Amino acid sequence: MKVRGLYESEMELISKLLYIFYAEGFGEAVRPTIIEDDNPISAKHQEIIKSGLFDVDKLLGEYLPEQQTIKLYTECIKNISEVLSVNIKDLQDVVLLHEFGHWITHKLPYGEQKEWENYCGNKTNNDVHEGWAQLIAWRVVKDIPILKEVFCKLNERQSAPYKVWKQFENSSIITLLLLRENDCSIATVGHWHLFDDEIKLNQNSSYEEMKEKLRGATLGGELGIF
Ligand SMILES: [Zn+2]
Repeated sequence: MKVRGLYESEMELISKLLYIFYAEGFGEAVRPTIIEDDNPISAKHQEIIKSGLFDVDKLLGEYLPEQQTIKLYTECIKNISEVLSVNIKDLQDVVLLHEFGHWITHKLPYGEQKEWENYCGNKTNNDVHEGWAQLIAWRVVKDIPILKEVFCKLNERQSAPYKVWKQFENSSIITLLLLRENDCSIATVGHWHLFDDEIKLNQNSSYEEMKEKLRGATLGGELGIF
């Protein structure tokens, strides 16, 4: 187990990722700590590997929101890279981007919103959490052929929540924000679609105007959100 910083090539990837958000008006936050867990593959992880389903957070890495830490399971990454016939470092980069995706949705401030306060609660559906992390990672890997290939190969072997991102491939990053502000009830992919449709219909509206419209549309409505 060792704590480490970002390697130079990773720094470049994470900078690319963060730039997407800074360009949309997000602020900066203290970066997460990165821990490499290089212990032999646990019995639990061996079971998961046997199942053939390679969901990132159960096997390859993890974002621990209370500690704001990203953990990488390096022995599992090595094993799965062999199973998928991909380079270890490329797979690790994909895992790192996914976990940074979780951290971004949790910690990156926007305007008055310092962070997503209910990140750790049960108020958001797993589809949304994994959908976001994957979509955010995709925004970077899609322009880097080798990482795109690794991302897609891994994605073929993942469960449904890890594939939700495909429905929002062409959506605005701002869509993410609107869902993040839903602190009153469970946020689902259905809400995400609703916001996304509204945004596409109102492309010239500012974020604040959009928020007001959505508040009006949903207040007291059947969705009961905001
Ligand atoms: Zn995840």
